[in-house]
Amino acid sequence: MDFNDFNFHATIRANIQALNYKEPTPIQAQTIAPILAGSDVMGLAQTGTGKTAAFVLPILQKLMQGPRKKVRALIIAPTRELTEQIHTVIGQLGRATGLRSMSIYGGVGMQPQIAALKRGVNIVCACPGRLLDHIQRGTVDVSAIDMLVLDEADHMFDMGFLPDIKKIIRALPAQRQTMLFSATMPDDIRHLADAVLRDPVRVQIDHTAPIESVSHVFYPVQTARKTDLLKKLLSAGPTGPVLVFARTKMRAKTIAHQLESSGYRATALHGNLSQNNRQKALDGFGRGVYTILVATDVAARGIDVRGVSHVINYDIPDTVDAYTHRTGRTGRASALGEAFTFVTGGDSSTAGSIKRMLGERLRHGHMEGFAADASEASDRPRRPMHKARRPAASSKPACKPNFRSGDRGRFGSRRASRHAA
Ligand code: AMP
Repeated sequence: MDFNDFNFHATIRANIQALNYKEPTPIQAQTIAPILAGSDVMGLAQTGTGKTAAFVLPILQKLMQGPRKKVRALIIAPTRELTEQIHTVIGQLGRATGLRSMSIYGGVGMQPQIAALKRGVNIVCACPGRLLDHIQRGTVDVSAIDMLVLDEADHMFDMGFLPDIKKIIRALPAQRQTMLFSATMPDDIRHLADAVLRDPVRVQIDHTAPIESVSHVFYPVQTARKTDLLKKLLSAGPTGPVLVFARTKMRAKTIAHQLESSGYRATALHGNLSQNNRQKALDGFGRGVYTILVATDVAARGIDVRGVSHVINYDIPDTVDAYTHRTGRTGRASALGEAFTFVTGGDSSTAGSIKRMLGERLRHGHMEGFAADASEASDRPRRPMHKARRPAASSKPACKPNFRSGDRGRFGSRRASRHAA
């Protein structure tokens, strides 16, 4: 399949080319045509699959044909960062189309948003809370919205946005096209989908397993030695940006400080930061001012920094879905990436679930001197290590901190001991 198959407007085609998208990703190949044809869509797809362009491209194409004066497309996403990111993609793919988009979220002044709405926009990317505020105050005109996208619906649900979303949907015209994207389909999202989608085209892209281009390694470690292990892995010198996940805001902050004082260009991203500082951290990470970003799950939602070479789960995520989302930050759009997870003896239950989901793709790493404490350990791999299955797989055994050479960076492998656990 080719982007030319969709008959996009020449300006949109040029923008696709400028972004160097050679061919549609699987979700784009399956979603763009039905959206262009006016169908509702339910997309089961995780981040990194190219789902943003999958809905942005047909929305742009359709908006180029209709009346332009009012807000016609509304995209609702769970976080400010994701909202900004979608807005950015619209800016890139919609360049020179004359279409305008804006993002709306809380934590910043209401007035500039009202002013921008008054100037006229065609697409609004919004977080639910602030959008509902605007709707209730009458500062956004939703009467002409005929396309609605609910992005990362499962996370909107996790974050408690479902009641707001239902209120927003009640305020929208009933005659509209609706697209719902979610990485997972918990019951509440299925009910929402049943209620808001009309005879949707269902598209499912590899929703149970993290994208193939990521290789996955577990490192057993004692809780007290996690920071040492992190430093040890980092000291081997990854060349790509590294995203570290911590369970709490406080831990994210502490880890970033510890890395900073060891000479790394690290910063933290967590919910206690002002919007300004969050954006600073994200921009700095995106531009390479910081090479390491230590984040909590919620704060990291929607981060799309090209070339994140490694995701390191300093704290194991609570669920398999969270693991999928975290590791979806690397290996995006078929670039290769690595996901390292620190596993303490107390983590055995979640580690077991992730292990079952990854199957043969999971490799077990072991750094000399860092094994989980016997009193903690219950999840040490007992079987001989297996090779990773991954695209362009190296035939090397699995457990060295394999920052690959060349464009993917490298954790100098000699410093890391490796052996079957
Ligand atoms: P998303 O899943 O929308 O967050 O997209 C993940 C990444 O894939 C982003 O960096 C996009 O710019 C990139 N991307 C989207 N579509 C394509 C494509 N057709 N070819 C190459 N990269 C793409």
